[in-house]
Amino acid sequence: MSRILLRGCNLDIEGDKVRVTADVSGFQAIWFELDSKYEWMVDTESVDAFFVLYTWVAMEVGMSLVVEGPVSEQLSTSVVGEVKSMFLTLCPRLKDVAIKVLNPVSSWASEGEVAATGFSGGVDSWYTALAAAENNSPYDYYIFANTGQHGIYDVNEVFSQRAVLAGEALSTMARPLIVVNSNIDEVLRERFQQRDVIGNISCVLLLQAAISRYAYSSSYSPEESGIIEYYDMAIMDPFILPALNTERVVFESIGIGATRIEKLRYIVGKPGFSNKIYVCIEKDLPIRNCGLCFKCRRTQLALESIHLQALIAESFDYQLYQKKRAALLVGLYASAKKDSLDLEVVDELNKRYGLKVLPYRLLASIWCAARKYLPAGVKWRIEAKAPYLF
Ligand SMILES: [Zn+2]
Repeated sequence: MSRILLRGCNLDIEGDKVRVTADVSGFQAIWFELDSKYEWMVDTESVDAFFVLYTWVAMEVGMSLVVEGPVSEQLSTSVVGEVKSMFLTLCPRLKDVAIKVLNPVSSWASEGEVAATGFSGGVDSWYTALAAAENNSPYDYYIFANTGQHGIYDVNEVFSQRAVLAGEALSTMARPLIVVNSNIDEVLRERFQQRDVIGNISCVLLLQAAISRYAYSSSYSPEESGIIEYYDMAIMDPFILPALNTERVVFESIGIGATRIEKLRYIVGKPGFSNKIYVCIEKDLPIRNCGLCFKCRRTQLALESIHLQALIAESFDYQLYQKKRAALLVGLYASAKKDSLDLEVVDELNKRYGLKVLPYRLLASIWCAARKYLPAGVKWRIEAKAPYLF
């Protein structure tokens, strides 16, 4: 069996960027890149960030992994043990390979308590940031990463424009958004969701010279979570996150907590909230809230349902919203038959408008029944032109 040998990592400054590249043989080198002003936060003592990723890579391609560079002893013990078994359960396509860590280290200099979390500009990000600030434990840093979540076309442009929008939204919090680019998506073979957690966590491990605590927002409720075969690694957040702790950084899973409507009500009017939300899934340039995808539809109508129309104009094209409002309502009512997040917004709209929304509900029922009989080609064309109807 051929092997991957991870010797260490190299740090290079190119213009105003610092790039950290794995010193590796037997496989393509993974790199991270960020503003050089954050160079002091980068951990070049260990290869922890690369170790977790190459463990996954080795299991994808069926090669053994030998790690010469220093690794956190705590991380090494759990990765070769429980984390490897979690990977195998989650994704049975992976292979059980030999992993050898030659230089585990248990004693690391630590810099004190510095907390960070991810921030995309969306409702969940805002809720996490503002709730921590209200509890007198605001985050010191926010991270925006590219580990494969920005599509496959014009990735660098999509990523950097999204980073700008997230940074502008966050500007009122007076804390930095650290933008971390990487080539993880080019090196790992499984699709993004299958291994999303380790991509994001590796960006934090890279910065563990400064960050000692990282809050990771869960996508699933505790009841849904488990170590099971699944297409999305986030299903095992509460189990895998503590297993990726090192002597220097602790990962905590933040529960879903409030509903979307509750979160919106909470963030609006809080000191620190910039009134700017970025939620869109569309990747057409220039990056903006398209107003028409299912996330834009849900957010705009949720704002309307709780009497916050004024905020729609802050983050979306309000004229487009007014023009498409009837169709957005029909699409939302149709989607709410299957989607619990949309159902919550629909319940709120019913409370606000009562019988006034009856025509949209009726049209949604007719549309739901009719679309089952559409030929695939026609359905596809409608979906491309009017995504808000699906
Ligand atoms: Zn959108």
